[in-house]
Amino acid sequence: MNLMYHSTRSRSNKVTASQAILQGLSKDGGLYVPDSLPKLDKTIEELSKLSYQELAYEVMKMFFTDFTEDELKLCISKAYDDKFDTKEIAPTVKVGDNYYLELFHGETIAFKDMALSILPHLLITAANKNKIEDEIVILTATSGDTGKAALAGFADVKSTKIIVFYPKNGVSSVQEKQMVTQKGDNTFVIGIEGNFDDAQTGVKEIFNNNDLASKLKEAGYILSSANSINIGRLVPQIVYYIYSYVSLFKSGEIKLGDKINYVVPTGNFGNILAGYYAKSMGLPINKLICASNENKVLYDFFKTGKYDKDRDFVLTSSPSMDILVSSNLERLLYSIGDQEEEGTLDLMNSLNNKGYYEISKDMLSKLDDFYGGWANNSETCKTISEVYKETGYVLDTHTGVAANVYDKYINETKDDTKTIIVSTASPYKFGDNVLKAIYEGEIPSDDYQQAKLLEELSKVNIPLAVAELESAEVRHNAICDKSEMEKSIKNILKIV
Ligand SMILES: *Cc1c(COP(=O)(O)O)cnc(C)c1O
Repeated sequence: MNLMYHSTRSRSNKVTASQAILQGLSKDGGLYVPDSLPKLDKTIEELSKLSYQELAYEVMKMFFTDFTEDELKLCISKAYDDKFDTKEIAPTVKVGDNYYLELFHGETIAFKDMALSILPHLLITAANKNKIEDEIVILTATSGDTGKAALAGFADVKSTKIIVFYPKNGVSSVQEKQMVTQKGDNTFVIGIEGNFDDAQTGVKEIFNNNDLASKLKEAGYILSSANSINIGRLVPQIVYYIYSYVSLFKSGEIKLGDKINYVVPTGNFGNILAGYYAKSMGLPINKLICASNENKVLYDFFKTGKYDKDRDFVLTSSPSMDILVSSNLERLLYSIGDQEEEGTLDLMNSLNNKGYYEISKDMLSKLDDFYGGWANNSETCKTISEVYKETGYVLDTHTGVAANVYDKYINETKDDTKTIIVSTASPYKFGDNVLKAIYEGEIPSDDYQQAKLLEELSKVNIPLAVAELESAEVRHNAICDKSEMEKSIKNILKIV
């Protein structure tokens, strides 16, 4: 029996996993969710004998039931190979008393690689399975890291084009360079005069534009998404929650049945939602600590039950979390709202029309799995500096937000449960702000000189992803207004 998927906003249209991956977003604007969440069918002891790739198969086979074993295993082996600079793929390291789950060992040195290394393979397999002959156009809005990871994943993949929109003034210098130097004739990168929310809203509108969809269809294109609204992004992220739990068990840090916390630096709520799904599947998780930067809309939500996007958008030192509309929260609302599609639809309509929504007391009481915290730039900087002074380990700015929030959590709750801090990017990606935290001398303005200095201070070699930027040619320089995204796409695809 296949596990089917339906929209968070209506149950009328059921699709298979491969169809949900192909479509990205449901036609009604909702996000695809599985009809039921599978339960782990192996014990932690059994899981502890598996490699990352084998564990990935165990998880994905429960969700992507219309893929054959061979198909899934092939996707997994193509994704999690020596593109990662460590055999473990997602190592958990102990630094001082803390555990960090390092998710930045992939090609573009941010956690987006964990899912975007496999998404292109899942998508192509899904297209074959559904006898799609159209060319697939991947539309992606990025706050900095998804863009590069998706470009790297889809570059020169047959029968696909990828178009990435990023906020022109809202990403780090290394992030921007990584994107605008992307090779591949099927890759397109556009800076927009606007912020990430503008880019994401624009992409969602394009998905819901029926007129455009039929023009695209006529021209032989179908749209899909590499954002975490795509269920093909979310499921691969469940794997590393289980893998890291098992790692602590294997190294004797925890005993069978022990619960642990995770602190997750959060933006679009994709990463932490995968943790919630892992917990729902039976992984012994105590709290999921949601760490925000100054765009602390999620912190306020967990405190009050009111989600209010009507506030100033702040550019912070953790740009990949500069988000006011966290798309994947819709999937959580759906889960805690007793899976009532109409209820989710009402909340989302309220968000669109009034700029806010408020959940019921009953729903709020079901948010006990979460704890919300936030940190501003100077607090984050202070934490990065302290961790470096005490241990020599260098956190990137996003992980710095998480580590600061974890300190606050301990102070407030005195909870001594073992906790994993999810480390979402290499410090090399945000060299400027990381150096400000750990170096007292003058910081060079050139990215490469910054990387050299960081190498000296951190004793971690400059990753290839950064080293190769030094000589990379800029291949993309398009800029458009946030109102012109549809026009840009039509230009690229030569549609009138
Ligand atoms: C994308 C990103 C985040 C936020 O993850 P979400 O799944 O959007 O919540 C945090 N840190 C880094 C470095 C990222 O690239």
